[in-house]
Amino acid sequence: MQLLSPLRDIFRLNETQKRALSRANLETIVDLLFYFPSRYSNPSEIKQIRDVKIGENVTLSGKISKLRTRKAWKRKIPMGEGYLEDLSGKIKIIWFNQAYLAKMTQEGQTVQLTGKITGGKNGVYLANPELEKNVEQSIWNSSANNQLGYPLYPEKRGLTSRWIYHSIKKILVNNLVKEIKDYLPKEMLKKYNLPSLKTALIWIHSPQNKNDALSARKRFAFEEVFFIQLKRQHDRLEYKKNKSFAIDSVEKDIKNFISRFDFELTKSQQKAIDYILNDIKKSHPMSRLLEGDVGSGKTAVAASISYAVIRNHPLKQDFGNLQVAYMAPTEVLANQLYESFIQYFKHLNINIGLITSSGCKKFPSKVKPGGWTNIPRAQLLKWVANGEIPILIGTHSLIQKTVKFKNLALVIIDEQHRFGTNQRSKLVRKDGFAPHFLSMTATPIPRTLALTIFGDLDLTLLDEMPLGRKPVITEIVVPEKRNKAYEEIKLELKKGRQVYVICPRIEEPDPNKEMALNVKSVTAEAKRLEKEVFPKERIAILHSKMTKIKKEEVMKDFSAGEINILVATSVIEVGINVPNATVILIEGAERFGLAQLHQLRGRVLRSEHQAYCYIFSDTKGQKSLDRLKALKTAKNGFELSELDLELRGAGELLGTKQWGISDIGMEAIKNIKMVEAARNEAQEMIKQDPELDSHPELKKVLVSKNLNLHFE
Ligand code: ADP
Ligand code: MG
Repeated sequence: MQLLSPLRDIFRLNETQKRALSRANLETIVDLLFYFPSRYSNPSEIKQIRDVKIGENVTLSGKISKLRTRKAWKRKIPMGEGYLEDLSGKIKIIWFNQAYLAKMTQEGQTVQLTGKITGGKNGVYLANPELEKNVEQSIWNSSANNQLGYPLYPEKRGLTSRWIYHSIKKILVNNLVKEIKDYLPKEMLKKYNLPSLKTALIWIHSPQNKNDALSARKRFAFEEVFFIQLKRQHDRLEYKKNKSFAIDSVEKDIKNFISRFDFELTKSQQKAIDYILNDIKKSHPMSRLLEGDVGSGKTAVAASISYAVIRNHPLKQDFGNLQVAYMAPTEVLANQLYESFIQYFKHLNINIGLITSSGCKKFPSKVKPGGWTNIPRAQLLKWVANGEIPILIGTHSLIQKTVKFKNLALVIIDEQHRFGTNQRSKLVRKDGFAPHFLSMTATPIPRTLALTIFGDLDLTLLDEMPLGRKPVITEIVVPEKRNKAYEEIKLELKKGRQVYVICPRIEEPDPNKEMALNVKSVTAEAKRLEKEVFPKERIAILHSKMTKIKKEEVMKDFSAGEINILVATSVIEVGINVPNATVILIEGAERFGLAQLHQLRGRVLRSEHQAYCYIFSDTKGQKSLDRLKALKTAKNGFELSELDLELRGAGELLGTKQWGISDIGMEAIKNIKMVEAARNEAQEMIKQDPELDSHPELKKVLVSKNLNLHFE
């Protein structure tokens, strides 16, 4: 057995296992060594299945399988059945009269069950156990003592924790870890009191006690954030090396432009504009992230900066304009931005283009004064290429190769988390010119996460809402108060306002599972509302499985006020701006993170009218209700995302899956000190040695990690 031996040569594997391993990208011995447990069982509380005795009350932990429900045929009582398996064995589970418990869990889920070991004609089984599903949340089953049980690995179909555990044991016995060179500098390990790679690998897979396991996890969490930061800092430096158009802006000129707005800028907006203008004055490209809650007025900032840019002539020319590209995540948003920009720029008599996959537009129209006109794509591209269109707005088709700009000086990206530095580097021209780069987001994420995933960008916050904006009145509605809330909503409908209803699911749940998943579905709820609650209203549905055309049709009707109630999944998070929709009702709210609820609520923040948000929750848990109450007190989305992190853990953060950080790396996200340390170390190292020539081992690992940014 060697570090690089293929697993299939060393272990006897069946076909399912082989497929599972390759799906998990586990090819060699060393790959498996870096497959870390997500948590550890606690032997003092949890019994091994092998050790249970009839008559005992026990807590067991393991993977649940073969779930089914049936009627006990004599007495016709509904039963739920399944099996629970841990490293030591397998036991049957039976729920009498509570068949729905079997439906509340998923095949293969890791759960904790507490119940009585019973023996009877059904053999030995665990009777009517209580179910604890959220055992994944903590890597420890209990913090009571320093003892640890066996490690539990994230499982894939065909790949059990048990198999991983036993295989890794064999590898450790062979002492192969000795041969792995540590890639982190010794001084760094010492400075942060982290174990060496060899020790950490042993400790993470077979810790003697909790502290060892913690220590190992800390090292791997630190190292992950450190690697991400190295890559980000490196890319940042690379981008900065390019030349860019140094943007001159005359203060009075900008002031004039802003004075045409029908509102006063907030201090935050003004500060952001000043900052950015100062940054794009330089002849190296800016890389900045503008973070601000929905409604904080990012578009006005973007427009002001764009104005400053287009006021500049191309190099060695005293006519024409530098160009701005503004990319939005959806067609609906691109169209809305287009309309806003026409309002911001119409007095200047410049061309503004729109490019999406459904067509192209140009403002102003020759025939329609003050309006835009549809133009062929080829024509638009020609005008972009010769510089006659200084501002081009669009979806991602905007930055495809076919779109050539004459003098692209600024790229603005709205809500595009997937826009990584890889894509950004494609914006660099052959002659070494690169546009200034402004990314904007309303996604509320904690500071630690922002520092990590956006480590290549400077951060600017818009942490102030425009004056006079009425905060959304938010109510947490328990089941008894449902009808009262509906009555209140009817009053708003009577005033002509429109309503969003958000449900966690699209389809009607399988009737068998109905009991289990008390989650409202869009289709079923729309029908119910139509019949029982709002018989007079025009109700439509919107969800991700509808065709694009159908979706757009519904959106159009809703914007036009032909629909009063839109029942949707959380897809409406991006892409809708209907000022007359002032009420949002969210079903099954306990299933969403606070930050996500906050974002949904942002949808009704678009109007002069008082807006309302009804958070419907069926939870009985006081803790869940208290958590939801934070929506009434928190000042902004960032505060709520910090709360999500604290109360529900890193796994619950908005869009966690797309950040591209492993579960262990996410453990670091809870620790601002660790994130800052990793960032500082990376910054320092890249400053001293941009290509990491003096750290060959580190560089090798970094390259092999292929950390394509941000979340591709
Ligand atoms: P977001 O940050 O979500 O992109 P927008 O830029 O779309 O927000 O702004 C939301 C609304 O607030 C727009 O109608 C915009 O005209 C308005 N707005 C922006 N800044 C201000 C301000 N300082 N005072 C009043 N209204 C503002
Ligand atoms: Mg916006």
